[in-house]
Amino acid sequence: MIYREIDALIKYAEKNLLLPKKNADFVRNNIFRLLGLDAYPGNGEGVGEVLDETPEKLLDAFVSACTADGLFSPDEAGCYCDAVMGELMLSPKDVQDIFEKKREEEGSEAALSWFYDYSVKGDYVKKAVLDKNPRFASQGLIITINKAKPEFRDPKKAVSGNSTKTGYPKCNICHENEGFAGRSKRTLRTIDITLGGEPWFWQYSPYGYFREHGIAVNYTHTPMYIDRGTFTRLMDFVDMFPAYFIGCNAPLERIGGSVLAHDHYQGGGEILPMHKAGATYILRSPKYPDAVVEVLDWPGTVLRIVSKSRQDIEEIGESIRAKWVAYEDRALGIIPQDEKGVHNAISPTVVKTQHGYEMSIILRSNITSEQYPDGIFHAHPEYHMIKKESIGLIEAQGLFILPGRLERELGEIEVLIAEGKPLPETLQDFKLVYDDVVKRVGSTSDMGMVKAAMREELGAICNAILENTAVFKDKRQTVAFMNDLGFAL
Ligand SMILES: [Zn+2]
Repeated sequence: MIYREIDALIKYAEKNLLLPKKNADFVRNNIFRLLGLDAYPGNGEGVGEVLDETPEKLLDAFVSACTADGLFSPDEAGCYCDAVMGELMLSPKDVQDIFEKKREEEGSEAALSWFYDYSVKGDYVKKAVLDKNPRFASQGLIITINKAKPEFRDPKKAVSGNSTKTGYPKCNICHENEGFAGRSKRTLRTIDITLGGEPWFWQYSPYGYFREHGIAVNYTHTPMYIDRGTFTRLMDFVDMFPAYFIGCNAPLERIGGSVLAHDHYQGGGEILPMHKAGATYILRSPKYPDAVVEVLDWPGTVLRIVSKSRQDIEEIGESIRAKWVAYEDRALGIIPQDEKGVHNAISPTVVKTQHGYEMSIILRSNITSEQYPDGIFHAHPEYHMIKKESIGLIEAQGLFILPGRLERELGEIEVLIAEGKPLPETLQDFKLVYDDVVKRVGSTSDMGMVKAAMREELGAICNAILENTAVFKDKRQTVAFMNDLGFAL
């Protein structure tokens, strides 16, 4: 019965979304208007206490009641749930005010955690769906199989920022999306922040890949770029929110994020594997006695600047950036720019620790060749059945997000191996995986062993993909690169 479900949602909002009692009738009427209802038989009668802390079950019941009454069709359910939850939530201004108050009284970590929780309770962050994604550690990396988000194989789309036909909002991360029904963003709430003296905002990702995964976005719809100011803005962010890391994707096709048309950074509350990596070499310069640059013990090419001085980080970071974007070594396939455009870019990412700022700079190149049309420094074709999408900042830091289809495909292969059956024609793309897992386990019917071997195999492949992305395959080449900037062992 539809009224009962609406009343249950109102009670849920009073308990979890800070809906004031004073607004309950008003909000209920807004929901009635949305659904074209005009006769209300009671005032919450029959609804007991609502104990739910997330809205999924209540929304399921609401959708069932609405579709049974013919108020909307099952494929409109997502839009209607978004609209109803949007009505139940606080306004953006109220959310910002509570956030600021918590930050003053309890600190930034408590404020962020409240805001994350609010985004989950408001159903913007689909945590229940995300928690169902398989996730495991393997070979020093973290691997998740993402069942919530469609595979994103066309890097061209990233350039346009997935813009819609009407041109409003300009792209799917513009601030104007807050509350925009056209993209089912009625439940989006953002927090204003200042980075490098400019207005930016922070929001959580509905497809969060790790703990409290979000994006910091420029208020202005301006393309991704990286310059000295980027280091400043990243450090401003971790000064404000020291519990989070924040990084910027390389602003180029094929090696960057899925939205290049709008300047933004990615961050969140989890320390990713790369942040924990040790150093193969530690370099110093007499010009910067209080800083070190580490060549990371990591399959990609990464330099980590460690210093308590913001100025050191900015200057060293900028010198690495400037050198890399002009760097050429044809023998290694590194060409900074040609008739196809710019190919070299950095991807910086920072955490704050007891050592000060740890600004890691990942050297990237998106150059292609006849042999590697998707990129010389991209996952090579033998691994495309596992990962063909861009290796962006998150993967480069050791958290791999693999396409949802793999759960079924790899599941089938595990069964075949346990049953001692050969690989059928339809799964020939996975010959490498099949052969390697068989090599790891021999002949066994123990599914547990096969599954464990499959996870190890995925870890090995993801490490090999990161090695593909390394612009210097030998760490001594990375040292030589830094020698030119006055840093030595
Ligand atoms: Zn935009």
